[in-house]
Amino acid sequence: MRIDVLTLFPAMFDGVFSSSILGKARDKGIVSLNTVNFRDYANNKHNTVDDYPYGGGGGMVLKPEPIFSAVEGITEGLTSDRKPRVILMCPQGQNFNQKLAESFAEEEHLIFICGHYEGYDERIREHLVTDELSIGDYVLTGGELPAMVVIDSVVRLLPGVLGNEMSAVTDSFSTGLLEYPHYTRPAKFRDWEVPDVLISGHHKNVDEWRRRQSLMRTWAKRPDLLENVELTPKERKWFDEWRASLESKEAPSADGKN
Ligand code: SAM
Repeated sequence: MRIDVLTLFPAMFDGVFSSSILGKARDKGIVSLNTVNFRDYANNKHNTVDDYPYGGGGGMVLKPEPIFSAVEGITEGLTSDRKPRVILMCPQGQNFNQKLAESFAEEEHLIFICGHYEGYDERIREHLVTDELSIGDYVLTGGELPAMVVIDSVVRLLPGVLGNEMSAVTDSFSTGLLEYPHYTRPAKFRDWEVPDVLISGHHKNVDEWRRRQSLMRTWAKRPDLLENVELTPKERKWFDEWRASLESKEAPSADGKN
């Protein structure tokens, strides 16, 4: 995969692109990660990339020419039949999630545009980009951190990036559920012991315990996710038990003290 990031602050990416899993993926040649300072494409003597908004008001607006030229500089001469996705980081965009990460991980080439200041000239949104992505309902100063978030979540899904010791298959959201709890040695830490089943060596029971924990956790923390999960009759019974136990705890006791 090839990833190009258009930014006014390429140095922000140095540490992220060269460290940990992203750095290893890059070293192994699984992904090429590049930054492009679109100020280099400014077509004026002061290298200006922003200007006052038509109609007045506060804040500066990113001009269209440097961003169009930077994207065209990347795409011209490309030989692949598959066009790159051109992704505008923007709080007004589609909310990013694991499903989108999986779909981006199928692509050959992604181009990210990181905004700054008040916003972009609207013609960039209308005529250049294929996707608009937000990482949540809050506003950051620039698109660099959001682009890093998206790139990290996409690259870790590329084949060969995560070793066996860190599989993405059971991750929260990949399965449609939140992931089950993890424990490691020691089996007893202070007064807290690891659940017996996990040290029993009985794989079938471990799998069932994990599925049950995953379902219980998702039900408690993110019940909205359960709408798309298919349950076996046995799992439906678990939910009946949990609901009954919750109701009995919530019901006032006979002496009124509860
Ligand atoms: N005035 C814009 C608005 O209200 O929609 C916000 C501009 S914000 C200060 C500057 C840049 O930060 C945006 O152009 C975008 O690239 C990036 N940004 C800020 N919050 C973001 C978010 N939640 N998701 C993705 N990008 C974001």
